[in-house]
Amino acid sequence: MHVAVIGAGVVGVSSAYMLARAGHRVTLIDAEAEPGRGASAGNAAQLSWAYGDAMASPALLKHLPSILLKRDPAFRVHMRLDPDFLLWGLRFLANASARRWWSNTRDILMLAEESRQEMASLLAETDIAFHYRVAGKLHLYPDARSFAAARSTVEGKREMAIDQRMLSRPEAEAVEPALKAYQGEIAGAVYTPHDALGDASAFCRQLGDFVVRRYAVTAAFGARVVGFEHRGGRLAAVRFADRDPLAVNAAVVTAGPLIRTLAASLPEAREVQPVAGYSLTVPWQEGAPCVSLTDVKRKLAFAAIGDRFRVAGLADIAVPGSGFLQDRFSVLREAASAVLPGCFDQPEWEQRWSGERPMTPSSRPIIARSRQIRGVYVNAGHGMLGWTLALGSARRLAQMLA
Ligand SMILES: Cc1cc2nc3c(=O)[nH]c(=O)nc-3n(C[C@H](O)[C@H](O)[C@H](O)COP(=O)(O)OP(=O)(O)OC[C@H]3O[C@@H](n4cnc5c(N)ncnc54)[C@H](O)[C@@H]3O)c2cc1C
Repeated sequence: MHVAVIGAGVVGVSSAYMLARAGHRVTLIDAEAEPGRGASAGNAAQLSWAYGDAMASPALLKHLPSILLKRDPAFRVHMRLDPDFLLWGLRFLANASARRWWSNTRDILMLAEESRQEMASLLAETDIAFHYRVAGKLHLYPDARSFAAARSTVEGKREMAIDQRMLSRPEAEAVEPALKAYQGEIAGAVYTPHDALGDASAFCRQLGDFVVRRYAVTAAFGARVVGFEHRGGRLAAVRFADRDPLAVNAAVVTAGPLIRTLAASLPEAREVQPVAGYSLTVPWQEGAPCVSLTDVKRKLAFAAIGDRFRVAGLADIAVPGSGFLQDRFSVLREAASAVLPGCFDQPEWEQRWSGERPMTPSSRPIIARSRQIRGVYVNAGHGMLGWTLALGSARRLAQMLA
């Protein structure tokens, strides 16, 4: 079967790999000149096998008034009278009950475990280099109340055989000595020793090259897809902005946050809301942490990726396509410098990046047949965990096509 994979971010490249491995003839398409330039480019690098926590939660619901009143610099919501946005917002709120949150989180964790297993086989099969490392991860809780509240989730995860440990500050400092100089509040930490990290952008380029070499995948870059041709509701070809249509038997849409540009022929695209985030990458310096850190209060994620050190954070629901805001880089830099003085003090060294998380109301990705055109499949909406969930989602997608 000839399958077009539309979008070469982490989800698209992983899908192309799984489909080609299953014996399909694959064409991997992207509007950009190379893989990994979209939401996957400068993300926080975390392969959070044990952190599948859905975004809509009772804790976020409680925090909503302060977000809407702009009292928390980590969030910005641009309210608008767009029916898709309002519907998305209502569905997001419906997912914020304790019961729905845990059910969504459990589903995400199961997918993350599938991804972890697929990562192990991919590392065994290929020689691709993307600074993959089992760095472990510490979630830093600012006060005794929030730390105590984390216990029930840790216990729930333990029942799923996920290894997470509650550590005191001295115990956390023994795991990551750089925390001795950490200026943020730490009442305790949740430690996940088996979480990994890797450069998602390098992964996309390397795996993109690998599938071309190993599985004769055809790469079509600089090619923007604008829709589909179908006969009797069955897919016939993929249509492009600037070239002839490509006849295929199936198409998998892995367009990340840009899936909305295909909404006219893909109703599922309306379930995805872009949530902008930002990152700053600087050279790693002696004394910076090596274990991945998440500052729960400030919503900051820190990662040492090869010889670089990155902070990522902020969650802005803006008008889709409105681009990034320069002042948000300063907000991120100030928050990061306040807790790790010296690491992000020299803006001339930093690499700035902004991207959009493709969020569904439940935080669970859409891995499904399209409701509108037979032969079209969707693998999108991976939100804040697309890098973590890419390989598991690709495996499920390939099973669906089989
Ligand atoms: C600040 C930040 C930090 C994050 N940190 C983490 C993290 O630590 N761990 C984690 O697991 N996840 C993280 N994420 C989330 C993760 O980066 C995303 O979920 C993931 O990159 C989505 O991948 P994707 O392949 O679906 O989309 P993308 O990477 O955006 O890929 C989609 C591709 O489709 C192409 N495309 C779109 N439309 C078309 C079209 N019409 N025609 C042709 N090509 C098209 C685009 O050019 C793009 O290359 C983070 C996100 C942000 C913003």
